This record gives sequence, structure tokens and C-alpha cells, in this order.
Amino acid sequence: MCGVFGIHGHDEAANIAYLGLHALQHRGQESAGVVAGDRTLRRHVAMGLVSDVFDQKSLGRLPGAAAIGHVRYSTAGSSELRNAQPFLFDYAGGSVAIAHNGNLVNADELRTRLEASGSIFQTTSDTEVIVHLMAKVPEFDPVQRLIAALRQVQGAYSLVGLADDKLIGVRDPHGFRPLVIGRLKDGYVLSSETSAFDLIEAEYIRDVEPGELVVVDGAGLRSHRVATGEAAPPHFCVFEHVYFARPDSLVNGKSVYRARERMGMRLADEQPAPGDVVIPVPDSGVPSAIGYAKQAGIPFEMGLIRSHYVGRTFIEPQDSIRHFGVRLKLSPVRSVVDGKRVVVVDDSLVRGTTSRKIVKMLRAAGAREVHLRISAPPTTNPCYYGIDTPTRSELVAASHTLEEIVRYVTCDSLGYLSHDGMMAAVGVAGDVGLGYCSACFTGAYPVPLGKGGDGDLVRLRRSRV
Ligand code: AMP
Repeated sequence: MCGVFGIHGHDEAANIAYLGLHALQHRGQESAGVVAGDRTLRRHVAMGLVSDVFDQKSLGRLPGAAAIGHVRYSTAGSSELRNAQPFLFDYAGGSVAIAHNGNLVNADELRTRLEASGSIFQTTSDTEVIVHLMAKVPEFDPVQRLIAALRQVQGAYSLVGLADDKLIGVRDPHGFRPLVIGRLKDGYVLSSETSAFDLIEAEYIRDVEPGELVVVDGAGLRSHRVATGEAAPPHFCVFEHVYFARPDSLVNGKSVYRARERMGMRLADEQPAPGDVVIPVPDSGVPSAIGYAKQAGIPFEMGLIRSHYVGRTFIEPQDSIRHFGVRLKLSPVRSVVDGKRVVVVDDSLVRGTTSRKIVKMLRAAGAREVHLRISAPPTTNPCYYGIDTPTRSELVAASHTLEEIVRYVTCDSLGYLSHDGMMAAVGVAGDVGLGYCSACFTGAYPVPLGKGGDGDLVRLRRSRV
């Protein structure tokens, strides 16, 4: 769960990267950073939100016509400054900066091998593995070094990099995480999501293809393939549509808002509820609740108000803060819910703790009945490709029946969208979800996990550091 941004061919590259990161802030709030320059690269990274990390002075120290930026939420590697990206390193061929969104499934194996042959790691992040692999490639050209390094890694990566006055963007062969290309005046921009392009008034051109590496320099944009042989099947993360991406973004070429609205409409057909009012869990549940209300013909109202002065509660690394956070973040509107049969629509139910608190809050505000509707299937499996889902044992749907979850959450009824319904809402027919990864809902992991990887990989790594 990270956001990446890149720009080439703009006098104020660092300033634009800073703005771009603002529009990607929802993808990670632990640290932010920018590397900018022409041949000489300079870096500024710190823990915290984009608006706290940068000011005029720090941005003023990042001159140059090219820049990359990163916002981070740690899915692998601990939450500390040394893991903040972009990384900037010097090796025999010059300076290279790199910023990564995703999770590598063979990072631990590669790290062990590299350490055995003398590599000294400075961070606990997956991304440094790529850096060390690059350093060992007997090629001068940084693009060739990167391609050779990426051929050894498996898993999810959308990367942006700077080397030799070139901006580089690359997506793993399955295209798990998003990366889009845009034009800004005479230059090019890269971003995790188009929300950044709208802010800086860049024009969206297309997505970086799975397995494609693009290089932007004075001569324009060129495309290379990372993998040799036949193209791998695409496995775009469906959870970007369900929850993670911003609704005003296009990801995988599709409007996130419309996909969520359709999920809500299908949910209304599949899981009708006896309600007087439909309310969303803001913000991420809003488009699907709108869809649900429209389709069911039940009035839509804002029965929960979200404070915008606290971050996403789930995303806070410490459990104690997360539990407290639900009450900090959401409060019920008595005049909307009092005496009503309330249909609450949320995008996903993970641990169930948020929903439990919401149901309690709504009842305390007078709701007569609370019917919970989730615009995605039950989350039953952890993600190993870059979304921070808890370990399997914490996923309530992995070990409890629907009736047990209803009892735990204390709602009057609970209904999930089917897998077919979700895939149809993102525009894919059939139950296999061709072109998408939906392993968090099905357990069908498209890329095998590294050694020992069928357990709680992410949590294991975290406890190690
Ligand atoms: P839970 O209490 O674990 O069931 O949390 C469910 C809530 O967390 C839902 O409102 C989702 O919008 C949100 N959510 C689901 N997945 C994630 C995630 N990976 N990171 C942050 N929030 C999430």
C-alpha cells in the first residue's frame, strides 16, 4: 500500500511531484519523499504526511527537471525512516533513485542469497533487494541493470526510477498494482493513479502495461519488456476497485467510482434488505451505497459523519490507536437514523471490529434495525502482493460462518456481494475473474509464495524487524 509518482521535462519537477503525492496520500501516510535532479540527484524524505514532510525550503533544495516521489504504508519492512522511499544510491555506474509500490514474494530468499555473497542491507524493505540485484549486474546502462534485476524478482511491483537523466516506470508482468502515464506540457508524468494527473492538470494517456518498462528522456518515451518469453497473464488487484484507489481515479482503465456504484447496485439485487434508509460508511462506502440506494429505491442519506482530521483508522499501525480511532473518525447523525430500519453499506469487512462499533453507535443513536451490506465478498485470505490485510487468523470471515459474524457484529442481518457480482461490476464476465487477482476473496494466489510463504508472511517479516 504505497503511492508512486514520477515526472520528466518540467522546470519545477519537485514541486509537481509534491502535488502529485498529495493526490496519492490515501495510498500511504507513514512517510513521504521526493528525489529530484538532472544528473545530480537530491533526496528529501521524512516520516509523516506529505504536507508535514515538505515545505518551501525542502522543496527549494530539490532542483532539476525530473523527480520521483513516494508515499508509504509499510506492508513489508518496519515503519521507520530508513525504510522511507524513494531510495537513492550510488554505484559504479552513477546514481539511481527508485520508489516501489507492491510486495515481492521472493524478497526473503533473495535477501538471504545476497547477504551470503556480501551485500550489506541498510533497510528492511523489499525494494532494497532490487537495488542490490542491480548493483551486481555487469552492465553499464542502468535500464539494462534494472531489467536484469527485475527478472530475478517475483511478486508485485509498480516502480518509478531516475537514472542518467531518465525517468523509468515499470509494472510487474502480472500488473498487480497500477501505474499510469500522462503528459504535462512537453513532459511526461507517471503515477499510481490518475487522481494525481487531475490535480496537476496532466492528460492521462494510458496505463503502463503489465511487464512493460517505459523510459522517458529528452527523446521522448520508449517502451521495453521486462520478461522474456510469452507474456504472463494479467492479474490486476480487484481490491484497488473495491477499496484502495480513490473514486475519482481511473485504474486499469476504469472509473473506480462507477465500478463501486455498480457493486452497490448488484449488492441491492443480490442482498435486498428491509430498510427505510441507506447510509454509507464514509468515505470508501459512499459510491456503493449510492448504487445500492438507487437500485433498491430506498432513500440515501449520510447517517454517519466522518471527521477528516484523523487518518484512516485501519491504516494506523498500532492496534490500540485503531480501536480508539473508529469513534474518533465516525459519528452517527441521530436525525437520520432515529427510529429507522437502517441499511449500512460498507466496501469490505475485514476483522469486523469497525462494523461492530458502527452498529453499536447506530443503535445508540436510535436505529431500530441495522442491516449491514458489504459491496465485496468475504475477505478470507491475506494479500501477499501489497495490500495490508491482517493475518488469516484475524480475518473474521476466514474462520466464522455468516451467522457467527452477524452475532459478533450484532447487526440484524448481513449480506455480501458475490464474487461473480464483484467481477461483473468491474466489467469482467464469468466466475474466474480473468485478468484480475482476487486472492483475498478466493485464496487463489496467482504467483506462488516464497519459502514458508503460505503462512503469515507479512506478519512474520514485521516481527523480525
Ligand atoms: P475491520 O474493522 O477490520 O472489519 O475494517 C473494515 C473497514 O476497514 C472497512 O470500512 C474498510 O473500508 C476498511 N478497510 C478494508 N481493508 C482495508 C485496508 N487494507 N486498509 C485500510 N482499511 C481497510
